[in-house]
Amino acid sequence: MARVNNWQLGREMSYWYPESRPEKQFAAVFDTNKCIACQTCTLACKTTWTSGKGQEYMLWNNVETKPYGFYPLAWDLNLLEMLDGQQWSERDGKTVYEGSTIFESAPAGERVLGWRPSDEDYAYPNVGEDDCSGGVDGGASLEGTHDMAWFYYLARICNHCTYPACLASCPRGSIYKRPEDGIVLVDQGRCRGYQECVRGCPYKKVFFNPITSTSEKCIACFPKIEQGLAPQCFENCIGKIRMAGFLNTPDKAQADNPLDYLVHIKKVALPLFPQFGLEPNVYYIPPIHVPTTFTRQMFGPGVDKAVEVYRNAPNDPDLTSLLGLFGSTAQITRRWKRVGDKAIGMDEHGKELVSVPFREPVHIRPAYDKLYQITRTNCP
Ligand code: SF4
Ligand code: SF4
Repeated sequence: MARVNNWQLGREMSYWYPESRPEKQFAAVFDTNKCIACQTCTLACKTTWTSGKGQEYMLWNNVETKPYGFYPLAWDLNLLEMLDGQQWSERDGKTVYEGSTIFESAPAGERVLGWRPSDEDYAYPNVGEDDCSGGVDGGASLEGTHDMAWFYYLARICNHCTYPACLASCPRGSIYKRPEDGIVLVDQGRCRGYQECVRGCPYKKVFFNPITSTSEKCIACFPKIEQGLAPQCFENCIGKIRMAGFLNTPDKAQADNPLDYLVHIKKVALPLFPQFGLEPNVYYIPPIHVPTTFTRQMFGPGVDKAVEVYRNAPNDPDLTSLLGLFGSTAQITRRWKRVGDKAIGMDEHGKELVSVPFREPVHIRPAYDKLYQITRTNCP
């Protein structure tokens, strides 16, 4: 085991291989507050990559309703139960994870603490859809916001982790992380189908193909990334919840890099289960209507602050403008700036790709339309 730096934990940790960061790291931010669970992303991926034999059950992208949705069944709960003592503390002004990661908790002779789902666990991809966390007392639904009952949608893809458990678990060395963009791939020629990666990935984002006897996973649509285009599930997202890009480490954060700004500067987007220890590279703006007692375990101790920052976005023109760039172009926005009431998305050379106004005029029509001699119902 090597000692590596995991900035999401605020400390070093043990990992099977020495630290080796790519030239640039593919990453993403998903705004959970905007997802409508239309599953267009799921289908965009399915029809592009997993329509073949042996891939029927595979969902490289899935969207589940929390708290009761999972694909595969209980993927997160099973591991959370196995991991003891997931405490965080403040040390010298830094938030530090005091518990053990899945690498540090690995049983003797194994590289990762993991488990392998059964066939049955993959049988109900939409289990728990739209199920609330609890009931609403009679009449309370008319009283505005409340936290008795809530749910939210969690869109998931492979996190193209900085410290992938799939890669660490593979005894054949068949999984690799591309040095040019950090995308994690399975070499189909080397894989012998031992399924150690399926067991090791805590997010359960590697799938075994029983026809080819190899493991397969999300490839981040790398042929598109290589052309400066966002993956299929990003381009097709109806709710415009997704932004693709490349993320620097916190010490190299650039304010004009959209992902650095959201993750490192505003700290409004957080990793999924950072305590697992993989330094995952998909970041989530947490749902603001969900009690943070729940989301703190899922997104880490920064969740209260992130909710506060997001709620304050109407008073923060820079953040508001950047949020408006989500889903505004099929190209990867490498840089951005705000000019007045517009957000400008740019490529890596500063060439404008898209310009989005974030304050739009409001037109109030008269109640009675004299021209057509009708009364409109959509007026104040
Ligand atoms: S999410 Fe799972 S499959 Fe993807 S890189 Fe991380 S460990 Fe590997
Ligand atoms: S396409 Fe976008 S809005 Fe629809 S389910 Fe997927 S992530 Fe959510």
